Amino acid sequence: MIPVEDAQKLILAAVEAAPAERVDLLAAVGRVLAETVVARTDFPPYDNSAMDGYAVRATDAPLGTLEVIEVIAAGQMPDRPVGPGQCARIMTGAMLPAGADAVIMQEQVQAADGRIRFEGLPEAGTNVRRRGSFHPAGAPLLAAGSPIGPGEAAILAANGRSFVAVHRAPAVAILSTGDELVPIDALPGPVQIVDSNGYGLAAQTRAAGGIPRLLGIANDDPAVIGERLTAALDGADFVLTSGGASVGQFDYLPQVLEELGAEVVLYKINMKPGKPLLFARLGRRLVWGLPGNPVSSLFCFWQFVRPAIRKFQGYPEPFWRLPVVLARLDAPVRSKGDRRTYFRGQVRHGADGWLFQPNRTDNSGDLASLAGINAFAWLEAGVTAATEGEAIPVLLVGEFAAA
Ligand code: AMP
Ligand code: MG
Repeated sequence: MIPVEDAQKLILAAVEAAPAERVDLLAAVGRVLAETVVARTDFPPYDNSAMDGYAVRATDAPLGTLEVIEVIAAGQMPDRPVGPGQCARIMTGAMLPAGADAVIMQEQVQAADGRIRFEGLPEAGTNVRRRGSFHPAGAPLLAAGSPIGPGEAAILAANGRSFVAVHRAPAVAILSTGDELVPIDALPGPVQIVDSNGYGLAAQTRAAGGIPRLLGIANDDPAVIGERLTAALDGADFVLTSGGASVGQFDYLPQVLEELGAEVVLYKINMKPGKPLLFARLGRRLVWGLPGNPVSSLFCFWQFVRPAIRKFQGYPEPFWRLPVVLARLDAPVRSKGDRRTYFRGQVRHGADGWLFQPNRTDNSGDLASLAGINAFAWLEAGVTAATEGEAIPVLLVGEFAAA
């Protein structure tokens, strides 16, 4: 059995960042920039006011009152320079008129009869945003490899980039195996269950930034699995199968992969849930044989598929794996100690730090126990218990609520 981190390393070593494609700016959000973007103009592009107020000559305005010579709105060129004894009414973002070098907030001014009165002159530069002071033209704004979130989207928009180069997202084919499985819209017979893993894995794929393609169900028949797997390779970067990877009499996946000439990179992880994970290279495709048990299959995705999707998408290394925090236990946990054991549950962050509430069940077949969970705490192999209040590592897999 391979330790979790070793397996992650072996899997990530098989993945390369994908080539770039040009996509529409909004489609680029959640993706990773594949080019360096430089500022096409100075930013701000012209000296402008940071406030609604009055543009004045800080250096030579006489104390007391000034004549208001015009009103300058954002988007409008000032008509004339501000001379001694003068000022201009100016709005936020409007161009600073020649002669003026500071802006007095309107709240600090009494205005009447085309003149203003105020106390104390501001220093030169007060409330003025100088051309190029935030960012000069030609300077790099976003480096290749930057994840694009809302802030980056706004930066790209400010530079007129309606299309940007991002790394391609992986096409992920998903095949469920098992004679007991029926499709989502069929009514299961007395010895059948609905294929839920396909949807769970497709949802995880989408959440991780991949493009899922549901291939349906293959029976527990090596010939059928081989055929469907071969068909799955077409147009896919990654292939996920669930079920049939264990040691049961009808678990054919290891055999089928071997027959197809796949190079099995690893099989069986030192963890619970999710021990019977298989990872193989099949030509340029990567194949994950995930366990059939619903919790195991989803957990293996978070641990071993999501990092690969992230690396493929061009994310820098710190973004490949899910974050881990140390959290105090809300209740004790117990394990057999034979493998590293993960406990599903809910983590939250409050005034006194991270707190983890383990779920009551740890049965890997108990699909319902996944509702509302956002984290997995763990005990290392050889450790059989942790007490309430003890701090143990917790893998964050979902969103957490504000405390
Ligand atoms: P297996 O890995 O094929 O031995 O399956 C282990 C357990 O997971 C069995 O109880 C299966 O019925 C269940 N299972 C396998 N595939 C799926 C699936 N696609 N959706 C839901 N449960 C599944
Ligand atoms: Mg099966």
